[in-house]
Amino acid sequence: MSKKLITLTMLALFLLTLAISGCGQQPSQSAKVLKVGAETTFPPFEFQDDKTKDYVGFDVDLMKAIGKQLGYEVEIVSMGFDGLIPALESGQIDVIASGMSITPERQQKVTFSDPYYKSGLSIVVKKADTAINSFKDLEGKRLATQIGTTSAEEAKKIPNATVREFNSPSEAFLELQAGGADAVINDLPVNQYYLAQGGNKEAKLIGDILNSEEYGLAISKKNNELTQKINTALAELKKNGEYGKIYEKWFGKKPE
Ligand code: GLN
Repeated sequence: MSKKLITLTMLALFLLTLAISGCGQQPSQSAKVLKVGAETTFPPFEFQDDKTKDYVGFDVDLMKAIGKQLGYEVEIVSMGFDGLIPALESGQIDVIASGMSITPERQQKVTFSDPYYKSGLSIVVKKADTAINSFKDLEGKRLATQIGTTSAEEAKKIPNATVREFNSPSEAFLELQAGGADAVINDLPVNQYYLAQGGNKEAKLIGDILNSEEYGLAISKKNNELTQKINTALAELKKNGEYGKIYEKWFGKKPE
């Protein structure tokens, strides 16, 4: 073998080694993206960080952790709460992570993951209000809620109440502040967060809690494989302590 041929052969081998090791380092496909739909004005579950403009919150961290387990990159697609299930049905998004309560009506259209958060509905009124102390006292009152939610459904059941449905809980709180509503009905943890973030200067929480609701991630009925993967990842995160860490980060206490 001539020297030149040896050099060329070695060079070829060297290049081949590089190519093979390169393949090992990079995934053969670029990372898969999981499109996650959310109504992003629902702190502390999903909201936009004032400074970075990134979507943050308990659901966002949980979805990112699930994505990591399953080898997906997570992309948050922000939309109105009442648009989430239609978007899932049309394939515009893969999962809903939006503090969505598991209800029999919704279960007819989507598949829910195992529950990941225990919630309930509660009432916020003006601080000076002494007339409203329970859900019973809401009869005939002007109520502000968020469109498409379990709160809106419950509000509509209250006799003689006037119900206004807003696109976001923050608009409902503004209506209360402005005197256009007597009470806001909304998910308890979101009410608590609103009050803790300064809302308690003007408003207060009523102790009465209605319904025990559980949040689930929603997946298309056609995508059983994804539902199973998500449930497996969720169970693993609960087991390995990651779920507990995320829970403590956003709620300041250990999961119940
Ligand atoms: N948990 C409530 C529901 O499912 C509200 C959710 C929300 O507004 N993001 O209707």
